[in-house]
Amino acid sequence: MAKKTAKIVKPVKAAKPARKPVKKIVAAKAPKAAKKYVYAFANGRADGDRTMKDVLGGKGSGLAEMTNAGLPVPPGFTISTAACNLWYAEGRKLPQAIEDEMMAHVRRLEQVAGAQFGSTANPLLVSVRSGAKFSMPGMMDTILNLGLNDEAVEGLKARTKNGRFAYDSYRRFIQMFGNVVLEIPKEKFEHEFEAVKRAHAAKVDTDLSEQGMQETVARYKKLVQRETGKPFPQDPVQQLRMSRDAVFRSWNNQRAIAYRRIYEIPDDIGTAVNVQQMVFGNTGDRSATGVGFTRNPATGAKEFFGEFLVNAQGEDVVAGIRTPRPISELAEVMPNSYKELRQFTSRLEKHYKDIQDFEFTIENDKLFMLQTRSGKRTGYAAVVIATDFVAEKLAKPAEALLMVEPAALSQLLAPMFDPAEWKKVPVATKGLPASPGAASGQVVFTSEQAVAWTEQGKKVLLVRKETAPDDIHGMEVAQGILTATGGMTSHAAVVGRQMGRPSIVGAGALHIDEKGKAFSVGGQTVKEGDWVSFDGLTGEVKIGKVATKPSEILQVLNGQMKAADSDIYRRFSALLGWADKVRRLGIRANADQPDQSELAYAFGARGIGLCRTEHMFFGEGRIEKVQRMILADNEQDRRAALAELLPLQRADFYGVLKAMHGEPVTIRTIDPPLHEFLPKREELMVEIAKLEVSGGNAAELAAKRTLLKRVEQLHEFNPMLGHRGVRLGITYPEITEMQARAIFEAACQLAKEGIKSAPEVMIPLVGLVKELRDQKAIVDRVAAEVMKEQKVRIKYLVGTMIEVPRGALTADEIAQEAQFFSFGTNDLTQMTFGFSRDDIGKFLGSYQDRKILDRDPFQSIDTVGVGQLVAMAVEKGRKTRPDIKLGICGEHGGDPSSVHFFHKVGLNYVSASPYRVPVARLAAAHAALSVKVGD
Ligand code: PEP
Ligand code: MG
Repeated sequence: MAKKTAKIVKPVKAAKPARKPVKKIVAAKAPKAAKKYVYAFANGRADGDRTMKDVLGGKGSGLAEMTNAGLPVPPGFTISTAACNLWYAEGRKLPQAIEDEMMAHVRRLEQVAGAQFGSTANPLLVSVRSGAKFSMPGMMDTILNLGLNDEAVEGLKARTKNGRFAYDSYRRFIQMFGNVVLEIPKEKFEHEFEAVKRAHAAKVDTDLSEQGMQETVARYKKLVQRETGKPFPQDPVQQLRMSRDAVFRSWNNQRAIAYRRIYEIPDDIGTAVNVQQMVFGNTGDRSATGVGFTRNPATGAKEFFGEFLVNAQGEDVVAGIRTPRPISELAEVMPNSYKELRQFTSRLEKHYKDIQDFEFTIENDKLFMLQTRSGKRTGYAAVVIATDFVAEKLAKPAEALLMVEPAALSQLLAPMFDPAEWKKVPVATKGLPASPGAASGQVVFTSEQAVAWTEQGKKVLLVRKETAPDDIHGMEVAQGILTATGGMTSHAAVVGRQMGRPSIVGAGALHIDEKGKAFSVGGQTVKEGDWVSFDGLTGEVKIGKVATKPSEILQVLNGQMKAADSDIYRRFSALLGWADKVRRLGIRANADQPDQSELAYAFGARGIGLCRTEHMFFGEGRIEKVQRMILADNEQDRRAALAELLPLQRADFYGVLKAMHGEPVTIRTIDPPLHEFLPKREELMVEIAKLEVSGGNAAELAAKRTLLKRVEQLHEFNPMLGHRGVRLGITYPEITEMQARAIFEAACQLAKEGIKSAPEVMIPLVGLVKELRDQKAIVDRVAAEVMKEQKVRIKYLVGTMIEVPRGALTADEIAQEAQFFSFGTNDLTQMTFGFSRDDIGKFLGSYQDRKILDRDPFQSIDTVGVGQLVAMAVEKGRKTRPDIKLGICGEHGGDPSSVHFFHKVGLNYVSASPYRVPVARLAAAHAALSVKVGD
């Protein structure tokens, strides 16, 4: 069927990952001291704080805040995001003044640290790490152990009395610097390292002696000379400048750009660079490094959660090379540090009023905090944590609301396996349950394949040894992600969770042959295209396809489960109850059928904002009647066909009005062009040709020929701007008459049964007040007739959609007739931009690549252009008719950042598809709260 009429309610899809409405920030500015670009943090005092994420990035502001709070943070400084933007603006270099400012901070850091760059006595070593306002895990670059050179390495050896450690650090540094800054492929370093290991008969890195590490360093330096034509830079300041610039450059690497696209992070906010004195988790058995969360980010359970590795550097944990140990074991290995870590992180959680994701290093039994930030979590965990925070009196309900991203609520509505079906299939293996949800799909082994097959309409499951940031595209389209290695904080786990994509990591029993496109487990082989299912909440993986069933929340709403038996339902419902107290916007649903309307009501919609009556025409046994109406070449025949449709429409309206329990129901008269109800021209021609060849039934052939003639008459070049909407009602007033009659007869019948209803009749695509006047006269006349016949009085409204730019521009005139406006932002966007809503996909990607458009304006309202028309029509409409009801029923009604905008321009309600009603309720509360705090 034609695209336009096919927009019925879609089954719920795993939501896009949680995110706050992103506001655009043009170059970040330091407050007051506009010239400041570098911010120190050291010894309990920092130049910045938690409010300065725009300037310092998330990591920088967290380091500043922890320093101010007296936590043990190695000293350092943050080069601001503004410097990054300036670096790009100035042709990839920084003005001398900023270079000087940075050097002053280097000197200050040397003093604070009591160590000097390049010193043989006590060399200063630093890490150089990226950190944008929004966390982009693993997308940008990091350099550790910076400051080492041929002399400093001896200094490090003398200071630590550990030559192997010193040369291992130098080796790691040359490798990281060589790869990230000098862009020498990793494999070339691996190749040299393997050669040394072979020569020393060493199986793993730790088998290599100091001598072996020294040889590796020598080979690495030669490799750098060979590849770049220059020796490895020995000057630490030069190393620092080059690394800083590489981090700036990584803001625009392919994967960072792709990540920003998916999460709608603006391209022009830049990254900060954090330069911080190194502490070492790899000096021996009294050292360790780890990452963790103050609560379980997958389930929300109140348990200290994380992983660590003894004698390792930070990257080893996240990279999934060595399998880390659960953090609870730290209590046995290093009890004092563990106790301190628990204290610090609970303090941070209370302070930030949110679950924290932290990084730490223990150097010779001394604990250092390296990062804290709000922990990314699944939608499920977000609801559990927010409601727990209120129960634990750590947050007030209004604060708890802000802990849940509206879009994340859709994850709670995603299907789960039917337990009976799930039990039938044996468990093939178990991995770590990184992100909950039921996933069933055909196995693919590369992200490219995942994308290609998804485009063909297949459901895929991405299976990888481990995922890398480059896999982001594949992860986005897959039903689920399954990896053989990595822990709960590996890339696949972090990103899968954030996307709300079911994920299992570290399923070690899988033997994956990525080249051969197969994996084996427990004697079974699974090839590309075979079905696999897994449960991201338990970690169980099964071979085969397993049917899914509705989420617990839906089961409660459908009456299949008691609310008392569902913990998550009760939390979901409590949270939305708080949202309802806070929000100002009303919430309605776009629904065309009684069952959809009942579901929407159960989700909390209080009214229907758009009932597309034409969708009812596609029901069983109806399309033939509609076609008869269209094929009629005189009014009388048309009326006869319409009379057959009347009882069907009346029954639909009866159901929808009843499902809303007296709340308003906006019913729109027919909108799409009539040819959309007829078979396609090409298909008909083929059928006729076949009948002609086979000498088939003459009556059938004649009927098809008549149909083809009418199809050709109705064919339109641009149906979106053609004979549709109010234009149909004007040319065929009897259609409006029939629909109005069906509406009022249904309402009268309900009234006789003692059931209240509040119909609002809406005329689509109005651009001229006279169009509306014409149609309103019909509706009012029919309403009066029906009420007289039935001897019942019904309160109703007649209004219009504002979806044609001329309608918005002349809203003051139109409001003379309209008792309400509902903004049809789908068509309004289409006509304001002149972008066809069905064809934008062909060029949107190029527009985004060239930064002409940030986001798809059909998903998220274009506040500047289309939004201006909305704001203007609101003002003009209210001027003419102060009590005019104003709503929006385009797809934007379920998009959180658009909801924010509609709140600001003062609409009365938003209308969203039933599954997005919870999202809209929470988004409306967020809008009300952030407006209150001066957003
Ligand atoms: C609109 O245009 O925004 C609208 C809601 O109507 P439709 O999508 O049916 O054209
Ligand atoms: Mg429309």
